[in-house]
Amino acid sequence: MNFQNTLEYAIKMDRNDPLNHLRSEYHIPPHEGADSIYFCGNSLGLQPKATESFLKKELDIWKSIGVEGHFKGENPWVNIQKKFKKPLAHIVGAKESEVVAMNNLTTNLHLLLASFYQPSEKRVKILLEQGAFPSDHYVVESHMKMKGVSPEDHMILIKPQQGELFTTEEIIEHIEGIGDELALVFLPGIQYYTGQFFDLKNITRAAHSVGALAGYDLAHAAGNVLLSLHEDQVDFAAWCSYKYMNSGPGGMSGAFIHENHSNDPNFPKLTGWWGHHLDTRFDMDNHFHPSAGADAWILSNTNILSAVAYLASLSVFEKTNMSALRSKSEKLTGFLEFLLIEDELLKANVNIITPSNPDARGCQLSLSLRVNAKAIFDGLIESGVILDWREPNVIRVAPTPMYNTYEEVFRFSEILKKLIVENS
Ligand SMILES: *Cc1c(COP(=O)(O)O)cnc(C)c1O
Repeated sequence: MNFQNTLEYAIKMDRNDPLNHLRSEYHIPPHEGADSIYFCGNSLGLQPKATESFLKKELDIWKSIGVEGHFKGENPWVNIQKKFKKPLAHIVGAKESEVVAMNNLTTNLHLLLASFYQPSEKRVKILLEQGAFPSDHYVVESHMKMKGVSPEDHMILIKPQQGELFTTEEIIEHIEGIGDELALVFLPGIQYYTGQFFDLKNITRAAHSVGALAGYDLAHAAGNVLLSLHEDQVDFAAWCSYKYMNSGPGGMSGAFIHENHSNDPNFPKLTGWWGHHLDTRFDMDNHFHPSAGADAWILSNTNILSAVAYLASLSVFEKTNMSALRSKSEKLTGFLEFLLIEDELLKANVNIITPSNPDARGCQLSLSLRVNAKAIFDGLIESGVILDWREPNVIRVAPTPMYNTYEEVFRFSEILKKLIVENS
């Protein structure tokens, strides 16, 4: 792209943006009478305008027909899972039978580890990152302890050979080095701190080549980058829906279980009555007859209010598609990167941690600020730029293609420049 460092250019990009209509689907938090610049969709996505009416509808059903809502009305609650299949399968690149919406992310990671971590005498190790998100670390650690495996000896915590980013080659070398002692590779899709997007296909292939399985925490990847979990032969994955998928604080999680495993009725799993096949679920005979595919992992009846908030958000995703979103995202984040590099002052004061290769990142750029980082961050918040802070000096800036604009990216760079001058 031949970007230009002017407001006029940014405005023109917005005018020509085929997705510019999507912004009006969201409530943009105000700041001093205008829209704030919300670059925090990596932490909590904005509220779709549709959410309120989706919630109101189910509240009305509950109000007017009570328990009958499970089986009556336009969308009987007992069948609500069906509505997730198509949009989720599209977003993560799966077959409909391989995806399910349930629980919260950490809970799903535990359910998946319960299924996918079956250590044998020799094959006990799990490879994860040293800098893994705390839940990922705790999930692995606790499953090892539950199985009587020593985390100290068998959690293999890898860190980048140089700097903060991994190469795919070094990850594959680690996998091959552990070889037939490796049970599982458990990595993020996108690393939450650096914004690096891992090569799921080649990492999964390497895991399989030594007889291990591969699963991913897609909290920062789902709804952000193009995924092809089915084709890449990923064994399992889970994500939260309140980051790039705008389902609301603490919103439901999603999980993927490859049909290689989910089609096997005897695949080990923790079970509950709601994973029992609907045909005989209410016979209550305690003979578990699993639902087809990933639905067999469902434990409980669905949290309907959380589910419809997720469906409201997915209804906006259905107004576009992931390749259109990703195509805008590459340009929007590319424009941010351009402004940070092009301007001498920004270049001297801001170090971009995130990979410069668009294929190795999503929309987020993680920036380490060389001087007075906290004061600059506070100044950004005061100026109506909403983003987040990670110790010791990192701000994560996530322009999302759903609702952010090129003009916001440009204005952000101007505000950042001003704050750097004021704080030098
Ligand atoms: C946000 C995030 C979580 C959050 O887990 P919850 O169970 O939804 O609280 C987990 N893992 C990663 C990598 C995250 O970024």
